[in-house]
Amino acid sequence: MIGFQVLACEGAARLGRLTTAHGAFETPVFMPVGSAGTVKAMTPEGVSATGARIVLGNTYHLMLRPSAERIAALGGLHRFMNWPYAILTDSGGFQVMSLAARRTIAETGVTFRSHLDGSLYELTPERSIAIQHLLGADITMALDECTPYPAPREAVESSMELSMRWAERSRLAFAERPGHSIFGIVQGGVHPDLRLRSAAKLIGIGFDGYAVGGLAIGEGQGTTFAVLDATVPALPEDRPRYLMGVGKPADLVGAVARGIDMFDCVLPTRSGRTAQAFTRRGVVNLRNARHADDPAPLDPECACPACSGYSRAYLHHLSRAGEILGSMLLTVHNLQYYADLMAAMRAAIEAGAFAAFSAAFENEG
Ligand SMILES: [Zn+2]
Repeated sequence: MIGFQVLACEGAARLGRLTTAHGAFETPVFMPVGSAGTVKAMTPEGVSATGARIVLGNTYHLMLRPSAERIAALGGLHRFMNWPYAILTDSGGFQVMSLAARRTIAETGVTFRSHLDGSLYELTPERSIAIQHLLGADITMALDECTPYPAPREAVESSMELSMRWAERSRLAFAERPGHSIFGIVQGGVHPDLRLRSAAKLIGIGFDGYAVGGLAIGEGQGTTFAVLDATVPALPEDRPRYLMGVGKPADLVGAVARGIDMFDCVLPTRSGRTAQAFTRRGVVNLRNARHADDPAPLDPECACPACSGYSRAYLHHLSRAGEILGSMLLTVHNLQYYADLMAAMRAAIEAGAFAAFSAAFENEG
């Protein structure tokens, strides 16, 4: 069980505070993705310097290499990766669907071959929860099947029903510890009635938090928001709500307006390694030749190390030369941009100015 308090509301948007075994943080929050026990191109000190107090770890990657048992023997994921704050681990379901070879889904779980060496694994709800316990996750996610998109309604429905049976088994397998929690994941594709049935099922089981999964996989922002409009009002007001794998800055603002509290996405870190920077004036591609002679900082309003110490010309040079420092500086900048965006939304909700913030953001974007 973890603590969650709603401190202020404006419309559906909420300012909240989530307390875990490894510290508390305010929501809405963006969680940097540290798939393999590292936020790529960042030190843990650099991640926390952006203001981040929770990162995401990845069951699929860590179970294959170096293995959950090895990490547990070395003191758990927090100690292993030298991250003293909160960690949320995903269940492994999404990566099994997107990365693993020759996967077979059955009622018991999913069997697959590692994309690293071809060895055979089985991931059941019970095994996923056991792995996340070995890792020491503050927030554990129930195992679900990420339904492909697009898919026929009958396929979406049977996939959602399977995920709900797995959710029940995940909840039963979860060992209650102070400061630790398990979230259920609403599925049901783009069908509001399936989403509502899924939410009702999860609420009946009883989770510490509720995630909305299976979105931002090609359905488009309008559809994502429509699913949230249908789903979020059905979720308990006193529990955190997590939109998985989303997204672009405008997606985050729109989802916060619809009552979402937590986000993760590879976009800021992955973009940082491909010379794409998020700024207050839109996305900047540092590979573009127009930056070659520009002595100005990337984003003059940003206080990150990349913007306070380096010119666009230098960042352009690093990206053209394929230098590792280019990835490092653009990743820290992008994570700072996301952290600042979340902080600005929290401040706006607290001040009762979120509607104005959201409208201004839409006009700029
Ligand atoms: Zn910056």
